[in-house]
Amino acid sequence: MKASKCFECGSSDIVSGLTVLTEETTSGGRPAYVNLAEPEPEKRPFLWIRDEVKSEFHAAVCGACGYTRLFAINHAEILEAHKKGFTSLG
Ligand SMILES: [Zn+2]
Repeated sequence: MKASKCFECGSSDIVSGLTVLTEETTSGGRPAYVNLAEPEPEKRPFLWIRDEVKSEFHAAVCGACGYTRLFAINHAEILEAHKKGFTSLG
């Protein structure tokens, strides 16, 4: 993902493509992520598994001022899920 100029200070010293970690990540957990889940159908079938779309992020940090942007990796899937009425879990 291209992040050529800082929105905050205009610097082009952007360090991009960084994985966003959490405390749990270092002990085997996942990096920070969002999760959109399918709404339950009105007539729920006997066998129904909720469909979910997840995305982790890449961060782009401005080396001059520290302003940080996050980019969802699976943004296209998130948009698709949003259009289908999926909502955020958590
Ligand atoms: Zn900056």
